[in-house]
Amino acid sequence: MDHFLYRDGVLHAEDVPVPDIARVVSTPVYIYSAATLRRHFQVFDEALAGMDHLICYAMKANSNVAVVKLMGDMGAGVDVVSGGEYLRAKAAGIPGERIVFSGVGKTRDEMRLALEGGIRQFNLESEPEMRALSEVATAMGVTAPVTVRVNPDVDAKTHEKIATGKSENKFGIPIARAREVYAEIRDLPGLEAVGIDVHIGSQLTDLAPFRAAYEKVAELTGVLREDGHTITRLDLGGGLGIPYEHGNQAPPLPMEYGQVIRETVGDLGCEIEIEPGRLIAGNSGIMVSSVIYLKQGEGRNFLILDAAMNDLVRPSMYDAHHDIVPVTEAEPGVERAPFDIVGPVCESGDTFAKMRNLPPMTDGDLVAFRSAGAYGAVMASEYNSRPLIPEVLVDGDHFAVIRARPTYEEMIARDMVPEWL
Ligand SMILES: *Cc1c(COP(=O)(O)O)cnc(C)c1O
Repeated sequence: MDHFLYRDGVLHAEDVPVPDIARVVSTPVYIYSAATLRRHFQVFDEALAGMDHLICYAMKANSNVAVVKLMGDMGAGVDVVSGGEYLRAKAAGIPGERIVFSGVGKTRDEMRLALEGGIRQFNLESEPEMRALSEVATAMGVTAPVTVRVNPDVDAKTHEKIATGKSENKFGIPIARAREVYAEIRDLPGLEAVGIDVHIGSQLTDLAPFRAAYEKVAELTGVLREDGHTITRLDLGGGLGIPYEHGNQAPPLPMEYGQVIRETVGDLGCEIEIEPGRLIAGNSGIMVSSVIYLKQGEGRNFLILDAAMNDLVRPSMYDAHHDIVPVTEAEPGVERAPFDIVGPVCESGDTFAKMRNLPPMTDGDLVAFRSAGAYGAVMASEYNSRPLIPEVLVDGDHFAVIRARPTYEEMIARDMVPEWL
């Protein structure tokens, strides 16, 4: 459910007409709904009610400081995957004890940064990383709380680029090796194991892989406790999928996901952490773009937009589907025609959708890409020297630019020509 609805034939973001924002900020632009973000957090919070838990928003999905602050104000923690995200979380006011550090390649500098600023836990992904953290923490005279991200060898049944829980993926330590690794952690100075971590992939539309992974984590909890380890936290990762295609079969609801957690690990006396990213931010955002030209091709009609793959890369990178809708609703009964919807970037990969049925459109008309709040703006680039796309946050009847579009001058001024050239 989101707060992007038509009123009197015009798409609104909560109470703000989308064309009002486009007029002020120009297009392309991302627009987020604060009410939708809050609602998605609450839905997860309710799904885990009765269990001691912390929702650690996976901020790589949408790391704008305003969005992260909104989540933090609701009591969320965050899952970060880089020093940059750690500092963004801090800038958003998230206290260190609510920041979880994930990722396969944490550098020593990043470890130091987090240990200095405060950290809830590091999720370790390899033995070399474990030894590096031990050295860094020991040199600083502190103890780093850690979990080990175990790779349960479960097929998440999602796009291959975002599946992370199979043995051939680069993530985590094979679950069969977990006992040895926890034993080594106990022997190493500067580390204290506090729990177990697992994350098997993104955009999962079936609960069975979650259940399989969490059952393995439950079993491991028992084994590690028998070995004398204190396991008080289970970080169950993120990955619950969202509906991208209107009218198509919807993924499971957070409530059903919460039930799987309850049934698999609910009676272990552990604090539960989850790291949802896409489900919090995905349907909380749209990308709005203007039609530049309608071009008649041979047997195809192209709708050429002012947004391109550098602004929203998911269709070209993951073959992802986004519903694309006119901001001004067509009159009922108007005849629709198929269009290929493309951007101006100089490669054929810059195609958002093929053969989409749309009502008649003309230059300057606005379209909205739905479900664009996660892995949208964060993956944007300035390819083709197109200034980075801006972001707007709507809350009720007001909105604010939360990241401005750089001017051409600002974009170009970042390059430096050496004196000797
Ligand atoms: C990407 C990621 C997440 C979030 O995944 P979503 O599919 O956006 O929920 C959570 N945890 C880790 C470790 C991740 O890498």
